[in-house]
Amino acid sequence: MEIKNIKLNNGHEMPVVGLGTWKLTGSKCLHAVKKALELGYQHIDTAEIYMNESEIGRSIKESKIPREKLFITSKVWPDGLDYYKVLAACEESLARLEIHYLDLYLIHWPNKNLDYENVLNAFKVLYKKGKIKAFGVSNFTTNHLKNIIPICKKLNLPLTVNQVEFHPLLYQEELLEFCKKNKIVITAYSPLARGKITENETIKEVSKKYDKTPIQISLKWLLQKGIVVIPKASSEKHLRENLELAFNLAKEDVSKIDNIGKHVQRRLIIPNFAEFDY
Ligand code: NAP
Repeated sequence: MEIKNIKLNNGHEMPVVGLGTWKLTGSKCLHAVKKALELGYQHIDTAEIYMNESEIGRSIKESKIPREKLFITSKVWPDGLDYYKVLAACEESLARLEIHYLDLYLIHWPNKNLDYENVLNAFKVLYKKGKIKAFGVSNFTTNHLKNIIPICKKLNLPLTVNQVEFHPLLYQEELLEFCKKNKIVITAYSPLARGKITENETIKEVSKKYDKTPIQISLKWLLQKGIVVIPKASSEKHLRENLELAFNLAKEDVSKIDNIGKHVQRRLIIPNFAEFDY
């Protein structure tokens, strides 16, 4: 499937399907990223905390794909973060990835102890210098976004993306609407509910109708909502399957899947420092 791009609110373009790499490390990571690039993936999602930026850098280098054809996201860990630490963390990620700029740089988690204006000033410097093509956040609730948007406006720093857990078992409709209104793209992490999507009866029923797998149905449901997806896969079979999305779900099937969220809200990633109650 040809992977389409979505235009972020600052004009930078992002492929709507990317490869997630959490828990992919060492030679497994090298192998999966190389294979993904060979198969046509152009968008790779990583983070300093994943401890795999060096392997991703090596895979990119060995692929010989021109840098401008790729979209690389990384994330900075928020503990003790300040202006200088953001600048240093970005340089370190770039060095490990062996690239000169990130397409997207995210604050990995909100943190009530952060001085956001101080931290965002560093993102502004990185953005102005071209070290990052876009700024975004991750795991931000509507309230976190409401707090940070005025600071972004004041600094003239476009807030382009909010990367959050999103799949049919966690349909965050209000957050999606809020982001749409504010021209913030949602990237769905754990878009396959870490594999659990295959157990859902409604998804299984829809998948039979289209002769697709439950995994493909979940990805398509997200894409049809204008959400970017970053499924993690390590085998060639899975990597291929997650790109074969050239079909459309009918309105009634989209609604059927929407309805799952009225009965189940199953959040899988809840670290003890999360601020989802904010
Ligand atoms: P996920 O993508 O929902 O699911 C990954 C699991 O699904 C793996 O066990 C994988 O197996 C399996 N899988 C992949 N394709 C499959 C297929 N076609 N058929 C059957 N099984 C398949 O989970 P995730 O890794 O949690 O989320 C994706 C990415 O989002 C992460 O890797 C990371 O980049 C990002 N993320 C971000 C945050 C954040 O805080 N911002 C948090 C979590 C995740 P194999 O590996 O064996 O192929």
